[in-house]
Formats: sequence, structure tokens, C-alpha cells
Amino acid sequence: MAGKGVFKDMIDGEVYKYYADGEWKRSASGGTVSILNPSTRKPQYKVQACTQDEVNKIFDSAKAAQKLWAKTPLWKRAEALHRAAAILKENKVAIAEALVKEVAKPQKDAVTEVVRSGDLISYTAEEGIRILSEGKFLVSDSFPGNDRNKLCMSSKIPLGVVLAIPPFNYPVNLAVSKIGPALIAGNALVLKPPTQGAVSCLHMVHCFHLAGFPKGLISAVTGKGSEIGDFLTMHPMVNCISFTGGDTGIAIARKASMIPLQMELGGKDACIVLEDADLDLAASNIVKGGYSYSGQRCTAVKVVLAFESIADMLVAKVNAKIAKLTVGPPEEDSDITPVVSESSANFIEGLVKDAREKGAKFHQEWKRDGNLIWPVLIDHVRPDMRIAWEEPFGPVLPVIRIKTVEEGIHHCNANNFGLQGCVFTKDINKAIMIADAMETGTVQINSAPARGPDHFPFQGIRDSGIGSQGITNSINMMTKIKSTVINLPGASYQMG
Ligand code: NAP
Repeated sequence: MAGKGVFKDMIDGEVYKYYADGEWKRSASGGTVSILNPSTRKPQYKVQACTQDEVNKIFDSAKAAQKLWAKTPLWKRAEALHRAAAILKENKVAIAEALVKEVAKPQKDAVTEVVRSGDLISYTAEEGIRILSEGKFLVSDSFPGNDRNKLCMSSKIPLGVVLAIPPFNYPVNLAVSKIGPALIAGNALVLKPPTQGAVSCLHMVHCFHLAGFPKGLISAVTGKGSEIGDFLTMHPMVNCISFTGGDTGIAIARKASMIPLQMELGGKDACIVLEDADLDLAASNIVKGGYSYSGQRCTAVKVVLAFESIADMLVAKVNAKIAKLTVGPPEEDSDITPVVSESSANFIEGLVKDAREKGAKFHQEWKRDGNLIWPVLIDHVRPDMRIAWEEPFGPVLPVIRIKTVEEGIHHCNANNFGLQGCVFTKDINKAIMIADAMETGTVQINSAPARGPDHFPFQGIRDSGIGSQGITNSINMMTKIKSTVINLPGASYQMG
């Protein structure tokens, strides 16, 4: 049960504490932030509203802990991460319970998120050992005009203190995708959990606490992003920001100082379906890609671009699968569960209303009960409708009918987002040429967009992000190169 058993130290009455200096603490602010259960729309948990003074102390401790951690042998850092991964997996049920209650994640998916996160941490420990133990050795006479008298040794060193800010939809997985690489590389880590998802994140942090990391190396600051976010992201002691979320990331990038940024932002992933596609395969992937976790995934299929000649057949197959989706509470493992908040549900409804008023065709009846939205496929969408371009983050999916491949590629590339895309065809030559033409970080051929496996490179272009992640890329991003050059004496030097 969340907050019980090994997790009992984290809670004070009914308020979850924040984590600093290796301890669970109450904030001097006396203020709390309420987390609503998306299903009941009633308060489920409370977390501390941390003060700026507490943030300053956290950064001081992080800096001090990081200096020692950077000198801790790599194999010991990896061992500690393996311990945290094991403890996380042992406690998957309690952490999953929090995910169900605060972000309405279907029960089974919640457990999967925790297990996947444990695997990610272990893989990161192993990958860190491989890539951080290697450096580069250069000799000067390979560059014109130089003698063989300079030997350059380069290796990777930590950046210092990494600030990690994950979003609500995968609060545990997207937090550990930042924590693991930061720690294995010798950095300290300050986590600002999303408000919806904070309690799941705090449970995950407690697993790192139980694994015995040095005091101050990891901390978790709670509070509303709108209140404490600027103070954190513009703090002079932050040496790197790894952020996942929506447009907030663009604002952070504009304000941040001269530090490395990893930004994983929104997406409008297009699914292009050609005339020769396996339509059953395409339909299964469209439903899985578009409606899993009620469409609240950055890599969800967010617009289908189908050739006119096959569109009716494809839409019929997709509709048949939508009819089989179960709609209800996350505790019952329903396929479609309530979206995260009332404002999110209102936004989705606004997009649907706009499409309806402009003449789109609906195959399912529009139905909403609180934050629960029944899945709809919106057909005959045209470029003048908002849903053609905006990210709904809900179980509503537009279909645009296209006459040429160029039309599909144009729609994909005209979007501000450029996260992923996919193409369905049996012609591998066409698939590769279309993949080349789609201006997105990744293109999947004959499968829905997806972030995993977690060691694959993952990146967005334009408003979808800065930099590339995936385990290896994140470790590299959270390090810098340090060179030492040995200068040998000139040719006149007497060796004997
Ligand atoms: P969000 O509203 O941008 O929030 C993300 C995080 O930023 C939360 O922890 C939030 O804290 C924090 N935050 C808010 N204001 C801040 C500020 N001024 N300074 C610093 N931090 C601040 O995004 P979301 O609604 O949680 O997540 C959905 C979005 O994430 C979608 O657009 C989705 O596509 C994107 N996403 C992208 C990826 C990817 O890998 N590309 C993966 C998953 C999700 P509070 O909760 O306290 O406000």
C-alpha cells in the first residue's frame, strides 16, 4: 500500500514529505499541494510545498555530495544502481498503486512501468561501465605541421548537479531515465516530480534511499511547477536540465543559462497508410498507438494520413477495434481510463467541438463523464481544423484522407512538432524513402511510434525537443570531455 511498510517514513499524517540530505522532511512553508485522483476528482494525496530556502540548501548538499561521488569508483556507482533497481522491482505493487490513484494508469500498465524502470536502471549501470571506462588517445603528428611531441588523453567527466523534471504520464519511468544516467556518470541529481505523479516519484526515490546512496546526492523537491519551477530552472547551481513535458520546456529553454539542456517535448505523430499496406496490421497499430493510456503518450499516433482508396476499409477496421475497448476505472484495468485532469478533458472537448462545427465525421457518439472520455475516431478531418495540428493527449484520433505520398509527408513536416512518425506499406523502398522525407526524430516502418526499448536513441526536432536521449545518449549528454595533454621535450632532448 502506498505510504505504508518500507515507505512509512515518507509520510507525516496525511502529507508526503520531501527528500533532502538523505532524510524525509517537512517543509517550513507549512503549505501543501493537493493531488486530485483523476477518476474521483477528489483529493487523493498531499505533498509539501517546498520553499526557496529549502531549494538552496538542497543544491548546496548536492554540490558537496557530487564531489565525493565523482571520486567513487565506477563499479561501486553501478552496484548502487543495481541495488536501487532491485528494490524498485520488489516494491512494484505499492508504487503501481500510487500510479493508479494519481494519474489513472491502468493497473497492469502501472506495474509494467515500474518493472521497466528497474530494467532501465540496471541497463544504465552496465552501459555506464562500458562507455565511461573508455577514453580517447591522440598523437599530435597526425595534424599538419606538428611533431610527435604531444599526447592527448581524453575521458568523460560529470557535469555537476543535474535537475530532472519529468511529466505526469510516465512519472517513474521518465524520472529514472534521467536519474540513472546522471548518477552513473558521477553527477548529483535534484528531482522536481510532476504534481500529478509526485507520490509515485517519491516512492521511487525512497527505493534509491534504501539502496544507500550518499546523503544529498539525490533529492526530491515538491511543489507546483508554476510556483517553484523558475527558481529551480534558473538556479545558478544547476549544471544541466533534463526536462520532459509540454510547451513549458520551450519557456525553460528560453530562460535557462549556458548549460546543457535535454528537452523531450510534445508530439503530433503521424501515421501514413499507403494503398498496399497490410490494413489489419495498420488498424491494430493505430488503435494500440492512438488509444493506449487514453492517448496520453508523447508517441501516441495523433493523426492518421490514409490514402483515399483504402481509407474506408481502414476506418472500418479501426472502428471495429475501438468498439472492443473497455472504458472505466484504472483499478479494473480498463483500456480507456479518465484523463489526468478536468482542464485536460475540457481541452480535448474543445478540439472535438471545433472539428464537429467544421464538418468532420464522427463514427462514435461523443460521451464524457467527468474526466472519462469515450474513444472516438474523427474522420474526414481537414487542415483548417485544430485537431489536424494540435496534440489532444486524449482518446480522440483524427483521420485525414490523402491522394499522394507528398501530401502525407507535407502534412507531417508542416507541423511544429517533429517527434516520431510511422508508415505502413509492403514496399520497403517506398518505406525508406518516406522515412527519409519525414522530418521527425524517429520513423517506424510498419509499427506504431514508440519510445522503447529504452536504450534506443529517442529525440524530437523543432518544438519536440533538444538533444537525443536513450540510455547511451543520456549518459553522454550528462558528461563533458576532459583532456590532459602530455608535452614531450623537443628533438634535442638527450634520453641517455
Ligand atoms: P507539463 O505541463 O509541461 O509539465 C511537465 C513538468 O514540468 C511537470 O513536472 C510540471 O510540474 C513542470 N513544470 C510546470 N511548470 C514549470 C515551470 N515553470 N518550470 C519548471 N517546471 C515546470 O507537461 P505534462 O502535462 O506533465 O506532460 C504532457 C506533455 O509531455 C505532453 O505534451 C507530452 O507530449 C509530453 N511528453 C513528452 C515526452 C517525450 O519524451 N518527448 C514524453 C512524455 C510526455 P507540475 O506538475 O507541478 O506543474
